[in-house]
Amino acid sequence: MSELKCIGCGAELQSENENKKGYIPESGLKREDAICRRCYRLKHYNEIMDVDIDSGEFMTMLNSLYEVDGLIIKVIDAFDISASLIPSFNRIVGDKKVIAVINKTDLLPKSTNINRLIHRAKLMLKENGITAVETVAISALKNDGLDRLIDTMTKHARGKDVYVVGTTNVGKSTLINQLIRMTTGDADVITTSRFPGTTLDLIDIPLDGNAFIYDTPGVIVPSQMAHFVPKDDLKHITPSKEIKPVTFQLESGQTLFISGLARVDFESGEKNSFTVYASNQLTLHRTKTINADDFYEKHYNGLLAPPEIDSPVLTEDGKLHTFDVNEDSDIEISGYAFISISAGATVSVRVPSGVDVNLRQTIF
Ligand code: GDP
Repeated sequence: MSELKCIGCGAELQSENENKKGYIPESGLKREDAICRRCYRLKHYNEIMDVDIDSGEFMTMLNSLYEVDGLIIKVIDAFDISASLIPSFNRIVGDKKVIAVINKTDLLPKSTNINRLIHRAKLMLKENGITAVETVAISALKNDGLDRLIDTMTKHARGKDVYVVGTTNVGKSTLINQLIRMTTGDADVITTSRFPGTTLDLIDIPLDGNAFIYDTPGVIVPSQMAHFVPKDDLKHITPSKEIKPVTFQLESGQTLFISGLARVDFESGEKNSFTVYASNQLTLHRTKTINADDFYEKHYNGLLAPPEIDSPVLTEDGKLHTFDVNEDSDIEISGYAFISISAGATVSVRVPSGVDVNLRQTIF
């Protein structure tokens, strides 16, 4: 292929592999001022390509962030807190200050006690070795809590640059776009450029004088349910509006299906209430555990859809996670649902192999 280089980042342009550096669709190569797709998206949509947690690019990002001086904004998805915690995050932080931002609070029921949510999130961050100077709950989409966030950022940045960090889909771009709108009043004034030699991109937001905001690539965490369903089905499993929790009074020996991608067996314990928080489009079905295999076989793509799945996934190949619930807890199925259960139950959750399931103290 040609020696053509991208005028944005200097990578050699190529049309063979869209996942590799310098990719440009063949038609674009003919242009004189050819830029790779990554730079194109960055320039036109302020869209930064995400990096895989196992990739060299991820390590480059970690190292480059470690070395800079500034304030870190760690964005967390209120619906998927565990998956929002990036392993090796401490490598990024060094001795920088961190502000934790819990985003998408509009998805949680209106009755949610936000102070309690913040408290729980802080504990989870702490368990992962992350100490935030402040934790702020917002909805980037609904522009809720952003004023407070800007004040907090300005206070702690003290003229230094700000780095926005998060896993994919936590709402980094939505947040940054809102910040731009609120601080400049106009989305068109952004200028972006590359932080030399790295995957970090600079967004020039006039925050307290001359400081910049850096947008970092999102980190792809492969353990979220989103990676196990076709793209078209994401709209079914990802909540897009306020979740309406549904409560079931279950006896041990009963099973609850959350559509065709998760099965919750109540193995032992006194009668208990199971409250499911998930996209309102998912279907919930209760059955006896002894009938659950047959029920699934028969209905995985009927009663239990959407999402539609080609073949059953909650078979022996699925992964079984068993929890002894000794205090009021939530079982989190990454990016899919969480289920609040009172203390005194043994519960097994079956999901496609590779999807994370965690037990945490309840946030409600
Ligand atoms: P990024 O990958 O971290 O940059 O995430 P995006 O900003 O692209 O957002 C991922 C998805 O979450 C998009 O569908 C957004 O519309 C949605 N999203 C972002 N912020 C919010 C929020 O505050 N509330 C809700 N309900 N959705 C949000």
